[in-house]
Amino acid sequence: MLDQVIGLDGYTCLPGFEGATPDVIDAVLEEGGRFVAEVLFPINLSGDKQGCTRHEDGSVTTPDGFKAAYRQFVEGGWGTLSAPAEYGGQAMPHVVSTAFQEYMISANMAFAMYPGLAHGAIAALIAKGSPEQQAKYLPKMVSGEWGGTMNLTEPQCGTDLGLIRTRAEPQADGSYRITGTKIFISAGEHDLTDNIIHLVLAKTPGAPDSSKGISLFVVPKVMVGDDGALGARNAVTCGSIEHKMGIHGNATCVLNYDGATGWLVGEEMKGLAAMFVMMNAARLGVGLQGLGVGEVAYQNAVQYAKDRRQGRALTGPAEPGEKADTLFVHPDVRRMLMEAKAQLEGLRALCLWGGLQVDLEHRAADEVDRQSAADLIGLLTPVIKGLGTDWGYSIATNAQQVYGGHGYIAEWGMEQYVRDARIAQIYEGTNGVQAMDLVGRKLAQNGGRAVQSFFKLVASECAAAKGDDRTAEFASRLEKALGEMQAATMWFMSNGMQNPNALGAGAYSYMTLTGLVAVGLMWLRMAKAASRMLAAGEGEVPFLEAKLVTARFYAERILPDVGALRRKIEGGADAVMGLDESMFAAA
Ligand SMILES: Cc1cc2nc3c(=O)[nH]c(=O)nc-3n(C[C@H](O)[C@H](O)[C@H](O)COP(=O)(O)OP(=O)(O)OC[C@H]3O[C@@H](n4cnc5c(N)ncnc54)[C@H](O)[C@@H]3O)c2cc1C
Repeated sequence: MLDQVIGLDGYTCLPGFEGATPDVIDAVLEEGGRFVAEVLFPINLSGDKQGCTRHEDGSVTTPDGFKAAYRQFVEGGWGTLSAPAEYGGQAMPHVVSTAFQEYMISANMAFAMYPGLAHGAIAALIAKGSPEQQAKYLPKMVSGEWGGTMNLTEPQCGTDLGLIRTRAEPQADGSYRITGTKIFISAGEHDLTDNIIHLVLAKTPGAPDSSKGISLFVVPKVMVGDDGALGARNAVTCGSIEHKMGIHGNATCVLNYDGATGWLVGEEMKGLAAMFVMMNAARLGVGLQGLGVGEVAYQNAVQYAKDRRQGRALTGPAEPGEKADTLFVHPDVRRMLMEAKAQLEGLRALCLWGGLQVDLEHRAADEVDRQSAADLIGLLTPVIKGLGTDWGYSIATNAQQVYGGHGYIAEWGMEQYVRDARIAQIYEGTNGVQAMDLVGRKLAQNGGRAVQSFFKLVASECAAAKGDDRTAEFASRLEKALGEMQAATMWFMSNGMQNPNALGAGAYSYMTLTGLVAVGLMWLRMAKAASRMLAAGEGEVPFLEAKLVTARFYAERILPDVGALRRKIEGGADAVMGLDESMFAAA
C-alpha cells in the first residue's frame, strides 16, 4: 500500500521523508505490530469487562494492565512517530503514524484513545499556542508523559457550540479563571500520566453569546512551573464517569472547572478556528477508528468462517469427507466478507492517502502543492470520518453476523467490536453533522475549488487507466460514478441556494456518494498497481490477483449505490420536511 499505491518513495525530497525509506518504515510497522499484538491486545477484552473506576476523591483508575502498557507505549516512543523534532518527535511522515494508529485501534480502541486525544490537543497547541505555551507543554505531551484532552461539550451544548456557558474571567497576571461544567470528556481523568493538559472552550466577559464569542484555553490538571516542575493541583475535578455502551476502558468524564487557572490559546474569540485544528486532526483519527475496529472484526470473522461447518455448498459438497462444509462456501457469507474486505482495503488506502495530504499540506516546498493538498484533505476529512465510521460499524455487525448466535455472546468478543465501533459515528461531530460540513461549507469554499480539483483528479486517473485491459472496465465504471457525483453537485448548486433544506436533506447521501467515489479512486490505484506488478513479474501473484478480484467486487457490488444516492439527493426536501411535527406521534 505505502510503496506501490501511495508511492511514498516519490516524496523523498520532503522534509522528514528522507529517512523514511521502505525498509525503515517496514521495521517501524513490524515492531509496532508486535507491540500492539503483545501488549495492547491482551488487555482489550479484560479492559472492556472491568472498565474505569472513579474514586471518592475524583481520581480515576484505568483497567488492570493499562498503566503498565502505557508506560511501554511511552518508552517505545510510539506517540512520537510523526511529531515535530523540535518537541522531541521523530518527524516521520504522518502517513506512517496513520498506519501505526490503525494497528493500535484494532488491538485496543479504548486504550488508543488516550494518546489519540492528546494528538488533537498537540495539533492545536502547535498551530495556535504561544512559544511559551509550546515550550512548556509540548515536549511532555509529545513524549506521552502528559496526556491531553479536548473540552467542547456541555450538558446544554453538543453540536451547537454557540450555547457554551463556561466562563473565562481575565486575571491581573494575564491568566483566566475558568468556571463551568464539561461533559463527555474522553480521557478527562486517569492514572496513566502525571499531568493532563486540557484544552477548553469558554467565553470571556462581554463576548457575543454565540459561536463567535468562543475562545480556547489551556488548563493543566496540575500547575506547571516555569522550570517545568509540577506544582499544585488546579481547580478542575472529575465529578463522575459515564456508564456507556462501549469503549469501557476509556474514561468519559464530567469535568468541573471551579475557577481553574487557564491561559488563552491564540486570539480571544477566535476559539472556533483553533478548535477546528484540533477537530480536523481528531476527525481523521476517528475515521481510522472505523477502519481499525472493522479490520479486527473482519479478521475474526474470516477465521470463524474457515473453522465453522454448517450446511453444504449450493453446487454440491465441497468436502464430501466432512459432515458439512465450512461457512466459506455460502455466497451470503462471502457477500459479507467480500464487502468488508473491499471496504477496508479501500478505506485504508484513503486514510493513508489522506495522511499523505496532511504531510503535503505542511511540508511540500511549493505553495501550489500545499494548497492543493489542503483543499483535498479539507474536502475529504468529513467523508473519511463519516463514511469510515459508518462502514466500521456495518463491518463490525456483519462480522458478528458471520458468527451467527455466537456473535451475540460476550466471550467471543464480537459484540464488543460492535459496541466500540458505534461511538465513532457519534462523537467528534455526528456523521450527520460531517455531512453538513461537506455540503454546507466545503463544497462552496473558494468557489468550489476543492471539489473541482477532486473531479479533475478522478477523471484524469480514469482516462489514464483505460489503456490497460486489466483496469479499463473499472475505470469506465468509476467514470460513470464520477458523472453521478458531478450531477448531484450541480443539482445542489441549482437548488441549494433557494432551499437550504434541500441541501440538508441530501447531505448524508452526498457524503456517502463522495466517499464511494473517493474509495473508488483508491481501488483504481490499487488495481493499477496490481496490474503493473503482475506485468513486471513482481510481488506475489495470488495477492495481486486478489486485489483485481476485490476491485471488481467494489465496482460491481458497492459503487453502483452512487446512482441511488444521486436520485435520493434529487428528491429534494419536500417529502423529508413535508409532515407537520404532530404527525410523528406514533409510526
Ligand atoms: C463516549 C463519548 C465521548 C466523547 N468525547 C468527547 C470529548 O472528548 N470532548 C468533547 O468535547 N465531547 C466529547 N463527546 C461529545 C460528542 O462530541 C457529542 O456527543 C456529539 O458531538 C453530539 O452532540 P450531542 O450529544 O449534544 O448531540 P446533539 O447536538 O444534541 O445532536 C442530537 C442529534 O441531532 C443532530 N443535529 C444536531 N444539530 C444538528 C444540525 N445543526 N444539523 C443536523 N443535525 C443536527 C445530530 O446529528 C444528532 O443526531 C463525547 C461523547 C461521547 C458519547
